[in-house]
Amino acid sequence: MITARAAVLESFKTPLQLRDYPLPARPEPGAVLVRTEMAGICGTDVHLWKGELPIALPVILGHETVGRIEQLGDGVETDWNGEALKLGDRVTWNSATSCGKCYYCAQKRQPTRCPHRRAYGIGYRCDQAPHFLGGYADFHYLRPGATIFKLPDDLPTEAVVGAGCALITAIHGVERTGVAWSDNVVVQGAGPVGIAALAVAKSAGAGQVIVIGGPKHRLDLARRFGADHVIDLDTVRTPAERLAEVRRLTGGYGADVVLECVGIPGAVVEGMELCRDGGKYLVLGHYCDAGPVTWNPHVITRKQLQVFGSWSSESRHLLAAIQFLRRTQKEFPFAEMVSHRFSLAQANVALETTAAWAGSKSVIVPGLEG
Ligand SMILES: [Zn+2]
Ligand SMILES: [Zn+2]
Repeated sequence: MITARAAVLESFKTPLQLRDYPLPARPEPGAVLVRTEMAGICGTDVHLWKGELPIALPVILGHETVGRIEQLGDGVETDWNGEALKLGDRVTWNSATSCGKCYYCAQKRQPTRCPHRRAYGIGYRCDQAPHFLGGYADFHYLRPGATIFKLPDDLPTEAVVGAGCALITAIHGVERTGVAWSDNVVVQGAGPVGIAALAVAKSAGAGQVIVIGGPKHRLDLARRFGADHVIDLDTVRTPAERLAEVRRLTGGYGADVVLECVGIPGAVVEGMELCRDGGKYLVLGHYCDAGPVTWNPHVITRKQLQVFGSWSSESRHLLAAIQFLRRTQKEFPFAEMVSHRFSLAQANVALETTAAWAGSKSVIVPGLEG
């Protein structure tokens, strides 16, 4: 029996434990075993670690992963896009898969709301075979039906993991909301989702993108990704001041589209006021339940707002993301977002670094010593 290591979340708010599990002797038909090359730490992982989402433990966290094919199960010949797959190919995959048959998948075309959806790194216990169903491990098992994508040779692993689930989340959200050519767009938040939303809005033809956020190193990154203006929460401290600044930058009217990428309920109250009359507002940053907020719905009627929500992403968004990343490496340097690399044994430091907003992106490289 051959075993491999994983960093395991066994109880909330306690350090991850390094554990050994047996590797499957051979993947079942339709499944793939991947040797993990790099696993991203997402902000959601910090929420999961703190117990803020109801998941069953123990779990191997990590839903933004790139690896190389170690073993192919019978019947796996191509990736989701029809590209031939062979041993050693570098791949990534959609963390969640929908059933394709239920009311939401088949009739209402909202597959991200499929009740049968389960995500790697979140929704699978690791004390049962095949164990390796999350990114923070030497290997990753992909069950039959996983949507796998072969990565082009000229697209660095750092770009894919640096963009992570933030980019596919932003692509889905902006697609639902619609950013028109020349629109004035405000992005609330300069974390990974905010930076990704900025890149997607820019490439969708936005005329001007204003990013509201902090701290300074994140706003510098927003400028690097093409923000036309940044509003620093540390210096422009009140919602009234920020509203005045957005109005000043938009001819007195407010933004055509505001994209919320913060995850703090109060930001939604502020953000709706930043819209022009007849504008659009997307709530994208509330993947976790951050609680309620007191707010006056009169603003939606008075401003004739369109309000959108967007949950996670579909396989086609990951395909679009890979093509987008390959095409725009100079314009939107997602590879540069990878700021901290840790070995598997340092997984706790990696989580803490993400929790402290210390860098733009922490990753685990299981091959690193330490
Ligand atoms: Zn994530
Ligand atoms: Zn379904």
